[in-house]
Amino acid sequence: MSTSLVEAVGLTREYRRPRRPPIRALDGVDLAIRPGETLGLVGESGCGKSTLGRLLLRLDRPTAGSVRFEGRDLAACDAATLRSLRRRFQIVFQDPYTALNPRLTIGASVSEGLEVHRLAAGAKLRRRVGGLLEEVGLDPADADRYPHELSGGQRQRVGIARALAVEPVFLVCDEPVSALDVSVRAQILALLRRLQERHGLTMLFIAHDLAAVRQVAHRIAVMYLGRVVEEAEADRLVRHPLHPYTRALLSAVPDLDPARGRSRIVLEGDPAGGGVGAGGCAFAGRCWHPARDDRCRREAPMLRTVADTLVACHHAERDPMTTGVPAP
Ligand code: ADP
Ligand code: MG
Repeated sequence: MSTSLVEAVGLTREYRRPRRPPIRALDGVDLAIRPGETLGLVGESGCGKSTLGRLLLRLDRPTAGSVRFEGRDLAACDAATLRSLRRRFQIVFQDPYTALNPRLTIGASVSEGLEVHRLAAGAKLRRRVGGLLEEVGLDPADADRYPHELSGGQRQRVGIARALAVEPVFLVCDEPVSALDVSVRAQILALLRRLQERHGLTMLFIAHDLAAVRQVAHRIAVMYLGRVVEEAEADRLVRHPLHPYTRALLSAVPDLDPARGRSRIVLEGDPAGGGVGAGGCAFAGRCWHPARDDRCRREAPMLRTVADTLVACHHAERDPMTTGVPAP
């Protein structure tokens, strides 16, 4: 019996391209999210975060590997089962403006799921919508307004109310605060944390920014070019990062950086240009770890346990910061 609500096993997704080899957006990802847990997923733009989110919600199909929900393989579910599961999965997108239909009032947008799944109608529906708007920090009277009348933060609150309306058990938030001002960001993150606790939601929280992920996630997985390179309990990952890529991400967030005061680790080149082709560690071309060697270029490191952390680095036992070699 599995204790995870959602589980990915060897999840791989390739996208075909004309006259070029396919892009492997996701490369054999294993991941498990426990009931009531928020897993943070962080990594540079293009590393496969949204692809993973879509596959977990069965909005897309994997090239290889599988997704299990409550122990059931989603690929093996019949259409009726999948339909009933759909209601229990919801997604909150980055850009609340394009996620909302501009011609629908806020009330109509929030009602949509309730009507589709026949969960409420008439006066009961209006009461439920008012309650949802209040729960996300809006005025029930906002139900009569249109998206363009709201601020970015208010629109994201609507996006969250819409997702919550059908009482999901699993919520994917794909960069929900990336488009918002810093001041609004903290409020939305606090709201998500509160809702997660109150409803016992299981969440995948995606962001390219570790500071945002840190505020909501119980556990954090770091992705690099379609693979998870480090995964640990949130505090541990932030205080004792083991992968040189995680270190670099942390050094961009001065408040979190365990090596505070040292110079920022700036990774050169883009991720796609950093790889060394088949076989080696995908991060080798950009790696600044003083112990990096020939093995990194020959042999891809597997995810393994080092001091309560899962990490994919041959040299995870050696702390790169204390070996005295300056970052590039
Ligand atoms: P992230 O969310 O981390 O920014 P994505 O999952 O959106 O990354 O994309 C991962 C990789 O897959 C990128 O190289 C992207 O260009 C590619 N990709 C994503 N979706 C598609 C698609 N529908 N068709 C072709 N390539 C895609
Ligand atoms: Mg994305």
